[in-house]
Amino acid sequence: MIDKTFDAFSDLFTKLQIQKLNKLAIYNLFDLILYLPTRYEDRTNIFLIKDIKVGQYYQVQGQVIHVDVKYFPRKNLIVTIEDQSSSMQIRFVNFYPSQVKQFQEGKWVRIYGELKEGKIFKEFIHPDYTFVDPDQATDQNFKPIYSLTSGITQKTLTSLIQKGITYIKEKGLFVEYFPELIKKKKLPAFVEAAEIIHSPPKPKNYESIEKTLYLYRKRFIYDELLSNQLFFRGIYLRGKSKQAPKIYLSSKIQDTVFKNIGFSLTKKQTSALQEILKDLGSSIPMNRLLQGDVGSGKTVVASLAAFQVAECGYQVAFMAPTEILAEQHMKKLTAWLKNTPLKTALLTGSLSAKDKKILYENISSGDIDIVIGTHALFQEKVKFKSLAFYIIDEQHRFGVEQRLLLRRQNHFDNNLHAHQLMMSATPIPRTLSMSYFADMDMSTINELPPGRQKINTRIFSAKKRNDLLKSIDHECSLGNQVYWVCPLIEESEKMQLETVINTHQKLKDYFSLHTVEIIYGKMKPKEKEKIMYSFESGEIDILVATSVIEVGVDVPNATLMVIENSERLGLSQLHQLRGRIGRGTKKSTCMLLYGEKLSDTAKKRLRIIFDHDDGFLIAEEDLKIRGPGEFLGLKQSGLPSLRIASLERDEDILDEAKLDADELLKINHNSVKSFLNCWLPNHDEIVRT
Ligand code: ADP
Ligand code: MG
Repeated sequence: MIDKTFDAFSDLFTKLQIQKLNKLAIYNLFDLILYLPTRYEDRTNIFLIKDIKVGQYYQVQGQVIHVDVKYFPRKNLIVTIEDQSSSMQIRFVNFYPSQVKQFQEGKWVRIYGELKEGKIFKEFIHPDYTFVDPDQATDQNFKPIYSLTSGITQKTLTSLIQKGITYIKEKGLFVEYFPELIKKKKLPAFVEAAEIIHSPPKPKNYESIEKTLYLYRKRFIYDELLSNQLFFRGIYLRGKSKQAPKIYLSSKIQDTVFKNIGFSLTKKQTSALQEILKDLGSSIPMNRLLQGDVGSGKTVVASLAAFQVAECGYQVAFMAPTEILAEQHMKKLTAWLKNTPLKTALLTGSLSAKDKKILYENISSGDIDIVIGTHALFQEKVKFKSLAFYIIDEQHRFGVEQRLLLRRQNHFDNNLHAHQLMMSATPIPRTLSMSYFADMDMSTINELPPGRQKINTRIFSAKKRNDLLKSIDHECSLGNQVYWVCPLIEESEKMQLETVINTHQKLKDYFSLHTVEIIYGKMKPKEKEKIMYSFESGEIDILVATSVIEVGVDVPNATLMVIENSERLGLSQLHQLRGRIGRGTKKSTCMLLYGEKLSDTAKKRLRIIFDHDDGFLIAEEDLKIRGPGEFLGLKQSGLPSLRIASLERDEDILDEAKLDADELLKINHNSVKSFLNCWLPNHDEIVRT
C-alpha cells in the first residue's frame, strides 16, 4: 500500500494532466493505480488473414494493394491489404483526404480491430492502424484499455499510469500494511499486482488473459473488500466495547397491552422480539436492524421492545421519516398503551413554538416515556432525562452515511450508550448486509401475518386509464378504498404536481357518488393529518396521492391502488407503494400504468414487479440493476462505492475479508488506520463513535 504519496501527485504531473485525471475521479497516486483497465488488447501476435474469424479482435499486418473511394451511397474509403496467406479489406466511413493519401500501394500496415461480416467481404471497419516496417517487433505485453472521458487518450492515460507506478517503485513508496496476512493468503504484493494489471505479460500456454491476471486482480478486490470490512466491522466492534443500560424485563403491563393490540405475534415476530429483548438485557449497546417485508408487522415488534424499556424506567425515542407516519405510530402506540401508566408524546417540526417548549420540558423531566417524532427528535434542543433506546423506522429512507451519523448522536448519561434499533422494509440482500451493513446485527421477519391475500398486479398502458374507472367504481361500492398514486419525479416536480391536482379534479368530476381527496408532500401538516385521518376512518373513498404515502402508511381497508408512470419508479419504490394495499384480509389489486415508451430496464422492472411479491427477491434484483452505489445512495455520501470489487461476483472474497478483518481489528490498530486512510480517506469524519 502507498504511504505519503498523496502530495507526490502534484510534483509528478502538470496542472493540465491533473485536471484531466480529476475528470476520471483520480485525485492521487493511489486512485491512479486503482484505475484498472476495463479490457486488454493482444498486440503481441500477428494473425494470418486466412485464420481470422468474424466477431473477434485481431492484429493483422499486410501490404496495401489497392485503395479506392466508393459511394455506398456515402463516400467510403476502402483499402485492400494482402499478407502471405490471403487478402482483405479495411473500410473507413468517415475519413480525411489526407488518409487517402497515407495509404499508398506497397506500404505495410499493421491493424488492430474486430473482424466484421461485410456485405460482400469480411472486413475491418475503422481499425486502429499504423504503418510499419514488416519486420518491426510486436508488443511484448498486452495493451491495457481504460474507460475514458473526453480530453484524454488511451495513450496519455497509459503513460501517466506507468509514470506513477515507476515513481512509486523507485521511491519505495509501497508499504504492505499486513504483509503476513498477504503472504498467508498467497496473494501477490501490491506493487507487483499494480505493475502486472497495468501492463500484463503475454499469457502462457493459451491461457486467457483473465485467467493470467486473476490472482493480481484478486489482490485489489481483496484489499478493497478488506477496507470495507475494516471500516464497518470496526464500527461494529467499537460499539460492542461500550456500555449500555441493562433492561430488566417485566411482564407487568403485558396482558393489558396484548388485549389492546388484539392479535398475537407470528412466529417470526416473536423470534425477532426475543433477539431484541436479549440485546436490551445485556450491558452492551444494541445496534440492530430489523428487516422485514412491507406489511410484515415490524411496528408492533419495535413497540413491544419500547414498552419494556419504558417500564424499566428509561425513555424511548421512536423516529419516523415523515410526519404522516410519525402520527400514525403515535396513534397506534397510544392505543396499545391504553390503561397503562406509560406516557407517549408526538414531536414533529410542525408543533407550535409554545407546544414544543412544553414538550421539551416534559421530555427532560422524564415525564414522557416514549417520544415519537420525525428528525425533530434528534435536535440538540431535545434533552432526554434517560434515553436508553431509540428506534428508527424506515431506515432505507436514510443513506448509509446518515445512518452512521445518527449513531454518532447516540449519547447517554454516565457514559452509557443508548440501544438502537433500525427498521427497514427494503430487505437487505446478503452481500449488502455483509458489507455496507456489517456494522449491525440483523433480525429478519420473513413471514406475513396470517390471512393476507396475494396482491393481484396488473399492467396497463396509460391510454387505457379510463377503462380503470369502472373497476374503481365497483371497488368503492363494496366499501373498499382506493389509492391513486401520481409519483413526483424530481426533475419536473412542479409540472407533476399539476398532474396530481388535475387527476384529482378529473376523478372528482367523474365519481360524483364517492369522496375523492388529495394529499401531497407540500401541503400543510395539519391538512395532511386531517386527510390521512379521514382516509383511515373510511370517510374518503379515493385518495389521490404522491409518493408521500409510500412510507409505512397502514390502512387495511384500502384494496386498490393505481400507480401512474410506474415505469419511471425503481423496483424498491414500486414494491413499497404496492405494499400499502393487501394489508387486511381482503383481496387487493395494484394497477401499474405506464407512459408511451418503455426502456428495456423499465420493462425489466415492471416484469419483476409483476412476477414477484417477495421483497427479498425484489431487493436482490434491484441491487443487480442499480448496483450498490445507487441502491444505497452512496453518491452523496463521503463513502465511496466499490471501485473494483463486485459484491455479487466476489461474495467469497467478501467472506474471507470479513474473517480477516475481525482478526486484524483485535490487534493491528495503527496499520488498520493507515490502510483505511488509503482506501477511505475520510473514514474518520464519517464516524466518530
Ligand atoms: P411494516 O412491517 O410494513 O411496518 P406494520 O407494522 O405497519 O408493517 O404492520 C402491518 C399491518 O399488520 C398493521 O395493520 C399491523 O397492525 C398488522 N399486524 C402486524 N402483526 C400482526 C399479526 N401478528 N397478526 C395480525 N396483524 C398484524
Ligand atoms: Mg412500517
